[in-house]
Amino acid sequence: MKKLLSFLVLISLFVFAGTNPKDSDKGLDEKNIDLSVSPAVDFYQYANGGWLKSNPIPDEYTRWGSFEILAEKNNDILKEILESSAGSKSPKGSNKQKIGDYYFSGMDTVKIEKDGFKPIIPQLNKIADIKSKNELYKEIAFLHLRVGNAFWGFGAGADARNSSMNIASIYQSGLGLPDRDYYLNNDSRSKQIREKYILMMRNMFKLVGENEIDAQKDADKVMEIETILAKGSSTRVERRDPVKNYNKMSLDSLISITPGIDWKLYFKDLGINAPSEFDVNQPRFIKDLSSMLQKVDINNLKPYLKWHLIRGTANSLSSNFVNESFEFGGKFMQGAKVIQPRWKRVMQSTNSALGEILGEVYVSKTFPPEAKDRAKKIVNNLIAALKERITILDWMGDATKAEALKKLAAINIKIGYPDKWKDYSSLEISRASYLENDMNASEFLNREEFNKIGKPVDRTEWEMLPQTVNAYYNPVMNEIVFPAAILQPPFFNVDADDAVNYGGMGVVIGHEITHGFDDQGRQFDAQGNIKDWWTKDDGIKFDERGKAIINQFNSFAAIDTFHVNGELTQGENIADLGGLNISLTAFKKTDQYIKGEKIGSFTPVQRFFLSYAHIWENNIRDEALKLRIKTDPHSPGKQRVNAPLSNMPEFWEAFGVKSGDPMRMPDDKQVKIW
Ligand SMILES: [Zn+2]
Repeated sequence: MKKLLSFLVLISLFVFAGTNPKDSDKGLDEKNIDLSVSPAVDFYQYANGGWLKSNPIPDEYTRWGSFEILAEKNNDILKEILESSAGSKSPKGSNKQKIGDYYFSGMDTVKIEKDGFKPIIPQLNKIADIKSKNELYKEIAFLHLRVGNAFWGFGAGADARNSSMNIASIYQSGLGLPDRDYYLNNDSRSKQIREKYILMMRNMFKLVGENEIDAQKDADKVMEIETILAKGSSTRVERRDPVKNYNKMSLDSLISITPGIDWKLYFKDLGINAPSEFDVNQPRFIKDLSSMLQKVDINNLKPYLKWHLIRGTANSLSSNFVNESFEFGGKFMQGAKVIQPRWKRVMQSTNSALGEILGEVYVSKTFPPEAKDRAKKIVNNLIAALKERITILDWMGDATKAEALKKLAAINIKIGYPDKWKDYSSLEISRASYLENDMNASEFLNREEFNKIGKPVDRTEWEMLPQTVNAYYNPVMNEIVFPAAILQPPFFNVDADDAVNYGGMGVVIGHEITHGFDDQGRQFDAQGNIKDWWTKDDGIKFDERGKAIINQFNSFAAIDTFHVNGELTQGENIADLGGLNISLTAFKKTDQYIKGEKIGSFTPVQRFFLSYAHIWENNIRDEALKLRIKTDPHSPGKQRVNAPLSNMPEFWEAFGVKSGDPMRMPDDKQVKIW
């Protein structure tokens, strides 16, 4: 449910020949600009053209922008933490021992290569021996706890209609490709993806000892099962509707609509009590799955289970498995030229397994307590700016405004890192086995989640790590969260002028706040419950504006015939436009804006927009762009810049954009929401 914003950060890598930026000009390098393009025609290219040309994508990357550059800097800090932990002897059971040994086990390639696929042989044998329903559910529960979702997903989270309590949830899952459409569509890219996916399966089945014929047969069977799952799956756009994806039911109702799934056996094998009630996110999926499990012979499910075991563990096995996985997922699907160095991959794995241990050390090294206060001040300025804007909003009635202001005042703000850190004491980590460490961590995290079912929500928990360069809004908590990694230079730069910080961090904060009021967020109240607090008339007016945003983005071709999906990206696009308007309102109160003095060649308001454009500068491979168009609720960088700005009169004025120019939306298509 939460909205994750992956955004990019302002940083300049290259100094070009020519004029030197003034010493006072921190945070905005005019050499990034492409003066051969008019800001009235394509502002993204104007603001970033110099940078785009001078920053080709490194071979191991599929996208390269300021975000990736900052993440690289972060990697070096995390690497140092991990290497020093792995190199020292720490008391058994201590946090330092855990991150050190986890990292050590992943870097122990001599052992990993020697073992090959030995670590999964016992489990492969168990799957081969499945004869009864009892054994089938044991295997599904094993995979869910320790490897990944086979067939469906099971978890826990805040009840969207009773948000102070956690509820068990069941949701669609179990596909090996990143979107259900890839199984069902008949365009050439989808067909090609299916062919390559089958090839990867065949190769991996051969790696665990199958002959050519069996490997092909098994791959075909997996494809058959996954295609049935895909047909029952909701699209990404359908899953954006919080009301349709909330279906509370008792255990008895769940059992009665899905007679083909033995839930009691499943929960027994998970080692938990069967929950008394559930939020079944996609009932159609789970019903279709149930009829499939009734019909399909148990032997025909084995290749699917085997495949999910192999795929889910491949990156912890020997390099032949890792390379197959990269050939498909990294190279073919996203266009990477080479695989990332091993230390980065092991670091990411350690980070997913033991993230808050690493986070605690990371924060102590990089995030001084005063940074929290500084960021809090900006957040409060942004909230005040939205309050002001809502009060004078011309399309909304007073009754809805009063409710919106109530919700805005109730937003909880989290900055930097959690007040209390996760307790990993029951998690066993050693140097003996990388795969075992990975599986132990998965089980630990899953059990921690299952343990929440039926209990009050702990509102101090974080859904993101402090070392992650990102931010989020969580509608069921009505909270905005800004990890430490995003609150540091060059993104949030205390040495830079306000224009740069409001155009950068300010817009990001405004973006997250706006998520509480986008087409999804507006359906939740101040406490995070799904509740319609809008008058009918204002609801209709909001939907009309949302529709206009959808139409604007549907018209953009991102690459070849691949268009931005206006419906999928609606919430993010509303948040970008809102974030810009809110942050600009806050920026207008600063001394810099009021004085209006140029720094370098640009006025304060021009610098605000240039700073915003630089956040989204990135070079991306064609394959990665096509994948993102299909799966990412965020629009590509170029549209995130050009589309919202072409709706803003302050932008037209700042850069002399005239009626009829591409960077000025025609009058009948312009949108303002927040
Ligand atoms: Zn967002």
